[in-house]
Parts: sequence; structure tokens; C-alpha cells
Amino acid sequence: MTSETPRKDAVHEAVATGIPTALADLGALVRIPSIAWPAFDQTQLQRSAEAVAALAEATGVFDRVEVKRSRIPGTEELGQPAVLATRAARDGRPTVLLYAHHDVQPTGDDALWETPPFEPTVRDGRLYGRGAADDKAGVMVHIAALRALREVVGDDLSLGVALFIEGEEEYGSRSFGQFLADNADALRSDVIVVADSGNWDATTPALTVSLRGNTRFTLTVRTLDHASHSGMFGGAVPDALLATVKLLATLWDDDGAVAVEGLVERDAQTPEYAEATLRGEAGLPEGVQTIGRGSILGRIWNKPSITVTGIDATSVAAASNTLAPEISVVVSARVAPGQRAEEAYAALETHLRAHAPFGAQLTFSDVDFGDAFLVDTSGWAVGLARTALAEGYGVEPVDIGVGGSIPFIADLVEQFPDAQILVTGIEDPHTRAHSPNESLHLDTFRRAVLSEALLLQLLDARTN
Ligand SMILES: [Zn+2]
Repeated sequence: MTSETPRKDAVHEAVATGIPTALADLGALVRIPSIAWPAFDQTQLQRSAEAVAALAEATGVFDRVEVKRSRIPGTEELGQPAVLATRAARDGRPTVLLYAHHDVQPTGDDALWETPPFEPTVRDGRLYGRGAADDKAGVMVHIAALRALREVVGDDLSLGVALFIEGEEEYGSRSFGQFLADNADALRSDVIVVADSGNWDATTPALTVSLRGNTRFTLTVRTLDHASHSGMFGGAVPDALLATVKLLATLWDDDGAVAVEGLVERDAQTPEYAEATLRGEAGLPEGVQTIGRGSILGRIWNKPSITVTGIDATSVAAASNTLAPEISVVVSARVAPGQRAEEAYAALETHLRAHAPFGAQLTFSDVDFGDAFLVDTSGWAVGLARTALAEGYGVEPVDIGVGGSIPFIADLVEQFPDAQILVTGIEDPHTRAHSPNESLHLDTFRRAVLSEALLLQLLDARTN
């Protein structure tokens, strides 16, 4: 037993006592439909930011709490409101930056929700609602951990804290880089905790150490100046859908692995993950095969993937005997850690131009990039985080990769190259972030709050 033990016990107790209030506050945040997409009521983002700012203010931890916006580079437009709360470090203690986002994805088809998306509902140990996990739970992990720390440490708290709750993560973080530049002094820190990822499962914590990047673009394929009767010219001239189908088919091998020269993969070990688990978690029916090669997690974490996510073509209802002159598709590719997104896009464009069938005319537009990321796990903060996660969950944490992207992490590293980044989160494989029936595992939430409170306590006790 060390002298830290009583204080650690006090953290456990303060977290446990604070959970019901934290969940009630989370429910109140979920009730605000803070969708960052322009087609939705933008005043909800201001409401949501103000609600988060009030929670930050009430922790009693901060010297200053503001709701702020930054300009979107290349436009006159302002980004969505973010919350920035700060307190200065003292007595040589480090400063930690706590990140989460208060905006949410649109709800999609409301009919697919078992309970209304903005009515927080508890069923079977999970809290359902849009943003209940991604990422309002991340917001509340920070708030609840700070409350517990404040309660245990009181006025002795010496840790510097910057709380940064973004308002447009789900809409491309368009003013993020500018926000970092505008507020660099307030955000500068020794350790950054990004609470927007997931865990191995609902009971096993994880540190996210690699993230794939992504590139997305619209490809338009034209083969004819105008539509024509398929009986008149079919068989002699190519319609655009024929050219598109043949062209897209060249992107994959027969086993579904990516077949584009110049897209790289990363060579790294992955934990055991059974095909049956994949089937259950992804909803892959018996008889439908997996795609790609190598270990399952290696395919998702360390190799590129290509998905066609949208297509503009004549609808089934409007189909007639016509040769379509032009088809547009959205191609969304995941980029392996170790390759720049821009380089991956260049490889894709070169491949598509080289394989255009029948001399079809290709146009590329709306190109978007997000870089992949590998966390440097050699710093002291990773050790503290592992200790805190092991204690908070009662299970040793695992290092995971994530097939998705958190492009803003590359911005953080660029702006604050000396900070150590810890990517944590509250999602589990059944969270369904971005989908209907998104939910938070309540026990995971409790363990995540406890882990973060323990981490903050360790940081507060550390002299640089
Ligand atoms: Zn998120």
C-alpha cells in the first residue's frame, strides 16, 4: 500500500457517487439535436455548446470558459461553436488537453430507430440516442472525471487543464486547424486525451494506436453526348453504366482485396479476432464470405479498402430502354497508416484513368483527404494511461488500431508536435455510432470515467 492508495480509493468513491448525475447530464445533452450539417437547424449547435460550457463552468475547475468559433479557411464563413475552458498549471505540474465533440451525425431513417433518436432511453444496460456514445459520452467522461478529481483533490489541484469540445467533428472539422492556430496558447499542453474512439469490447479497455486515413471523391463517367434508345444503338456504343461497372470492377481482385497499384499496406501484428465475431458484429450472414486477405484485423486496421458509397444513375422506378450518357459515383477509400491520403488519392486517380474502358471520359471532383495516424507509444503518458485503464476497468488494456479515421488528430500533431496523444473512448463493438439505434454501454461509461479520473490524478501528482 502506498500513500496514494487512500486518494485512489476516494477517486473510486467520488466517481461512483457522481455517475447518476453524469448520466442525467448526458441525457440532457442527447436531447439537443446538435447536427453539424447545414441542412439542419444550426441554432441547436449554439444551444449544445452553451449546455456544455455550463457543465464546464460548474465543475469549478476552470479559470475561463468560452464558446468560440473560428473562420473556415478560404471562406468568410465561421465554423460551428466550440467550448474552450482552461486553467493554468502550477507547481511544475503538466497541462492536459481534454478533447471531445458535441455535434452529432444526422439520424438517417427515423423509422429504423426503436426509440426516438433525441429521446435518451435506457434498455438492457445501454443508453440509446443519437450522440449517446459519439461523442456526448466523451464530453461527459471529461466532465465527470474532472468533477471527481475536484472533489478529491479540492484546492490542491495543480494540474493545468484545457477542455476543448468541438462542434463540427461530424462535418469535417472545417475550422479545426484555424481554431488550433487561433487558440494555440490556451490549448498548448503536455498530454492530449482524445475521447472519441472505442474499446476492444464493453469490458476490455483499449488505447487506439493507429488510425487509417481516408480519401473520398466523386467520379463522373461519360460515354455519350446524350441519351439514346437502347434498341437503336445498344450493342454498338457503350452506355455510361456499362463503362462505370467495368471500371469499378478493376479496383478489386476476385477475393475483394484492393487491386490498385500504389496503395500501400502496413505490416503489423494484430490481436486474435474470430471470423464468427466479425460475422456477429458486422451482421454478415452465413454463406456470405469475408473479403480480403490476411488476418481479419490486419485487413481493417493496416490495409487500404475501397467502397462505392453513392451512385447517381436512373432509379429503378424511372428505368426505361435508354443508354445512359453519364454516371457519377462517390468513391470512399480508407488509407493504411504510413501513407499520406493525398498520395493514395493520386494512386486511385492514376489507376482509374489507366483502366477507363472504351475511352470513357472521366472527371474527378469534390476530392477530400484525411491523413492516417500512428501514435508514438514511447512517451511516459502512455504508461500512466495504461495504469489508469487497467485500474479503472480491472482488465489490462490492449493496443488497437481503428479502421476509421479521425483526421483532426493529424492537425493536433502538426500544431502541437511535443504533446503526447492518448486516444481513448467509450464505444464498444455494439455502439453503432453514426447508425440508427446508437447506444452507450452504461458500465463502460462508468469504467471510462473512473479511468480518466485516475489518469488525471496521476497527472496532477506528476512533476515535470
Ligand atoms: Zn466522434
